[in-house]
Order: sequence, then structure tokens, then C-alpha cells
Amino acid sequence: MTAKILDGNALAQKLRAGFKTRAEALAAQGARPGLAVVLVGENPASQVYVRNKVNACAQAGFHSEKICYPPDVSPQAVLDKIAELNADPAIHGILVQLPLPKHFDADAVLEAIAPEKDVDGFHAENVGALMQGQPRFIPCTPYGVMKFFEDAGIDLRGREAVVIGRSNIVGKPMAMLLLHAGATVTVCHSQTRDLLFHTRRADVLVAAIGRPRFVTAEMVKPGAVVIDVGINRLPGGKLCGDVDFEAVKEVASAITPVPGGVGPMTITMLLANTLEAAERTLGKM
Ligand code: NDP
Repeated sequence: MTAKILDGNALAQKLRAGFKTRAEALAAQGARPGLAVVLVGENPASQVYVRNKVNACAQAGFHSEKICYPPDVSPQAVLDKIAELNADPAIHGILVQLPLPKHFDADAVLEAIAPEKDVDGFHAENVGALMQGQPRFIPCTPYGVMKFFEDAGIDLRGREAVVIGRSNIVGKPMAMLLLHAGATVTVCHSQTRDLLFHTRRADVLVAAIGRPRFVTAEMVKPGAVVIDVGINRLPGGKLCGDVDFEAVKEVASAITPVPGGVGPMTITMLLANTLEAAERTLGKM
């Protein structure tokens, strides 16, 4: 079997096609969608992510602001800026690029963002709303993954879904979304005793680990849908996922590549959340 490749670039393009029209309609009513991205420090990967997000905003006709701080900035200066952005009517979404330097309390920073502008969906209020099945903003990466299932017509009801990784950004919200979609969900992590036992019975396997080619073909049930969230940079500079793509595509029924899979969908869902935030300010939703 050779798996169907779930093309994140194509799906992102399809979803983004309508964004510009929605943005212009909002702009005509005085609410051009606006996203503020806060970057602290000089992490090269974070710089690339932030640049991509700002560029995506420009392409979709959004207003965007990039606020950069040196790595030794005081946390209070960042909190003050967030308070300012919370009150700024031109800004509908605020995103603080993670990870933050060690002298920051990342939770305190995320909690400082007004929940109605928290387009990453990381504020405790939004995490709670997601848990209750009434999400205000769905975290962008797992939201993008759900769009793959929707677009490919993959019904999750009654399926065995296994998520490897339990981070607040990917693993946990991913598990919650799969659960709400009717899957039976297992979340694995570094202390899971028999990972192979779990992965081999997964109809849907989501890898969010951060280890290059960690998921091998023998870990995958024939015919499974495999979603690779991982982004790893190999010594030569090439990107690769958490899944051994070449081997696993011969076993799976569908698989996302890296690059060109989940990555473009994450930014797309960030735009979608920002649009929704702007639309809500007009009482349209
Ligand atoms: P974290 O480092 O926060 O979480 C990694 C998870 O993997 C942890 O829960 C950890 O377990 C688990 N893990 C590590 N080693 C093993 C192992 N040997 N067996 C089983 N589980 C293991 O990473 P993130 O969730 O933030 O990101 C995961 C990956 O996804 C990264 O490659 C990241 O770059 C990528 N990413 C991609 C995005 C995209 O847009 N495509 C967006 C966000 C992230 P434990 O909790 O026990 O330590």
C-alpha cells in the first residue's frame, strides 16, 4: 500500500482563498483583522515562524504588527506591551512566540493576553472552553490537523486515535479535539511503558514528539492515518518530521509530509482565528 499524501500546502491554499475577501469585508466595516506577534530573543526557528506569520497576514490583507525584544528584556516590559495591545482596537489577535527565555514565567505572559484576543488558544479560559467542548479559539496546530480529517472525509467516530506527545500546545488539545470528534483517545509520552503496543492499534496516529523519524513502519498499523506534527532540523539543515515518511507511507493509508503537511495548516488556522476574532468584534458571530 502507498499512502495518500495529505498535502498541507494545497489545503492551506484552499482554505486561505476566502480569507482576503472576508478581510476586505471587515475592513469596509472598520475592522480590518489585525494580528500582533511578540517575539522575545533571537531563536532562529522562532524568527522564521514569526516572519512566516507576518507574511501570511500581508497576503491575506490583514494588518499585522511584529514586536521584537532582546533576550534580556524585563518580563514587565512585555506584560506592559500586552496590556497596550489588549486595549488596541486595531489588534484582534495577540500571539507571543514560544519558547520564551528562561527568566520568563510563560504561563503568566499567556494569561496576560485578553482571552478574546488569544488566537493561539493558550489562555486558561480558552483551554477550559475547549475542554468543555465550547471552544472560543482552537490551538492552531491541532485545529489544522482536524482540517485534514475534515477535508479527506475521515470519520473519527469510534476510531482508535493515539497521540504521541502531551504538550499544552499540541498533544493535549489534539487529544481533546479527537475525543470531541468521537475517537477513543490514548495519549502517549516519554513515560509510556509499551509505546509499540499503543501505536500498533491506532487507526489514527498523531506524532508530536520532536524527534526525527521516531515513528517507524513497524510502529504503524497497516491502513492507519498518520499525522506528523514534528519539525526537526537535521545536521545538514534539512527539515524532517517525527515520522520515517518513506517507510511509513508504504504502510499507512494516508500521511502528512514534512515539510508541506501540518506546518502550513498551523499558520492558516492562525489566520482563521484572527478573522473570527475580528468578526466577533462586529458581533457577526
Ligand atoms: P514538547 O517537547 O513540548 O513535547 C514533546 C512530547 O513528546 C512530550 O510530551 C514528551 O513526553 C513526548 N516524548 C518525548 N520523547 C518521547 C519518547 N521517547 N516516547 C514517547 N513520547 C516522547 O514538543 P511540542 O509538543 O511543542 O512539539 C512537538 C513537535 O512538534 C516538535 O517537533 C515541534 O517542533 C513540532 N511543532 C510543529 C508545529 C507545526 O506547526 N507543525 C507547531 C508546534 C510544534 P513528556 O511529556 O513525558 O516529556
